[in-house]
Amino acid sequence: MIESASYIPHTVPMPDDGLCPYCGVAMDGTYPAVNAPVIDHTIPLSKGGRHTPDNTLMICNRCNCIKRDRPVSYLLEKLHQSGALAKT
Ligand SMILES: [Zn+2]
Repeated sequence: MIESASYIPHTVPMPDDGLCPYCGVAMDGTYPAVNAPVIDHTIPLSKGGRHTPDNTLMICNRCNCIKRDRPVSYLLEKLHQSGALAKT
């Protein structure tokens, strides 16, 4: 029996277009490049979010560095202010 299910390893899929869902940059860099793909927890782990498929997605390293453990709304506001928000 598994003692704790709080950490469930899974593969986080890349977006089909390979673009960061927040700023739209092509995530084809190699970490620690700003355009390297990294796993983001939509609800940060430190805020009670879990490492589950519905709370994780691949975003670019730059967006992750801006967002850190803040809500998505903070990142979107920062991207909007800098004119880097992905056109949707
Ligand atoms: Zn990004």
